[in-house]
Amino acid sequence: MNVSNSLRTNNTRSAEIMARARGRFPGGVNSPVRAFRGVGGEPFVAARGKGAFVWDADGNEYIDYILSWGPLVLGHAPQVVLDALAKVMQDGTSFGMPTEREVDLADMIAARMPHLEMVRFTSSGTEAAMSIARLARAITKREYILKFEGCYHGHADAFLVRAGSGVATLGLPDSPGVPEALAKLTLTCAYNDLEAVEKIAREVPLAAIMLEPIVGNGGYIEPTAEFIPGLRRIADETGALLVFDEVMTGFRIAYGGAAERFGVTPDLTALGKVIGGGLPVAAYGGKREFMEHIAPTGPVYQAGTLSGNPLAMAGGLATLGALTREVHDGITAQTANLVQGMRDIAARHGVPFTASHSGSMWGFFFRDGVVRTFEDAKLSDVSLFKRFFHAARRRGVSLAPSAFEAAFMSSAHGPAEIAETLNRLDDALGAALAERD
Ligand SMILES: *Cc1c(COP(=O)(O)O)cnc(C)c1O
Repeated sequence: MNVSNSLRTNNTRSAEIMARARGRFPGGVNSPVRAFRGVGGEPFVAARGKGAFVWDADGNEYIDYILSWGPLVLGHAPQVVLDALAKVMQDGTSFGMPTEREVDLADMIAARMPHLEMVRFTSSGTEAAMSIARLARAITKREYILKFEGCYHGHADAFLVRAGSGVATLGLPDSPGVPEALAKLTLTCAYNDLEAVEKIAREVPLAAIMLEPIVGNGGYIEPTAEFIPGLRRIADETGALLVFDEVMTGFRIAYGGAAERFGVTPDLTALGKVIGGGLPVAAYGGKREFMEHIAPTGPVYQAGTLSGNPLAMAGGLATLGALTREVHDGITAQTANLVQGMRDIAARHGVPFTASHSGSMWGFFFRDGVVRTFEDAKLSDVSLFKRFFHAARRRGVSLAPSAFEAAFMSSAHGPAEIAETLNRLDDALGAALAERD
């Protein structure tokens, strides 16, 4: 197809909706990254999605790699999820009582992540991560938490310290309103810096060492081969709990998540995004002996009116049910094709570029060499990213509106969508480079 014919220029309706939204929501949005502050310009007002595609309020079509920031591993509005939701909602959407679907979804998760012997469902990843901090502190009777620069664990007070993309894009080192006394209990060091972790863990009594096993919220950053096994050893030697925040990586970087991918078992795990298949579901879990500290078996209080509601559970069950190992491997192969294609395009244009993926989670930076820390990520060419982002969007490819966010792939993205994406990105990169002066 002739790419220039598909340039998206009309955005009247989106602009009208955003003008109304700005009167009602801070920045016109209900979550900051949606406001496009990281790239400038008018945000995308989504109207409809199907499979690999999303349409904005003006009817422009995009091949989508945001995928609701990770949850939509089967693409937009997959029939299995629609059918499951249509069926379950006839019987009521929430009871505030135990239901069978909760047990079914917990079983399905444990079948892939056996170390999640027990879980507690919540409605957001923020709640799951926040509750893990409370639980880890109660179990260890310690107060300090170690996290890594560029890792995001939701917006609870304890974690709004060097918290990656949203915050980094906005240029806030942390957030006003977070009590200093509380922020002091959160220590940070550079991702992949085992020496720093070792030093801190020997000096400070840590309740938990918490990380994204692959960082997606500071751009896509992989751990070194030594990093995660090293954290396990340090946690064991110093009495800290090792916590994987798999809200983003869970059921994306491997069929069984980070424990399968890296061969290291964490003490506690946070999940979210994919396990709700686009509905509000998250969870935290681990060994029975740890989880039984949670009320009502234990004294650590945590609750939720809508936690585990049948509608949300049905979204998760249908999604994980369809995400067999074979389907996961298929999405992984398409992701590898896209990433390799992008490397080839960048090489042809002579642009410094690095891209990588694990399973269906991927990312790229406009710089040479491996990115191991958030500082490395920030040395990428953000100005080129912005121009590339807008050029891609005008050509109908929807990328995350930040140089510091991972991208995703779904089972609905087939070879034709990947080939078309690469065509458009090739043209977009040429245009972005031409704009340089
Ligand atoms: C998205 C995300 C969260 C927060 O989840 P919400 O559902 O947005 O509250 C926490 N941790 C990680 C790693 C995430 O990617």
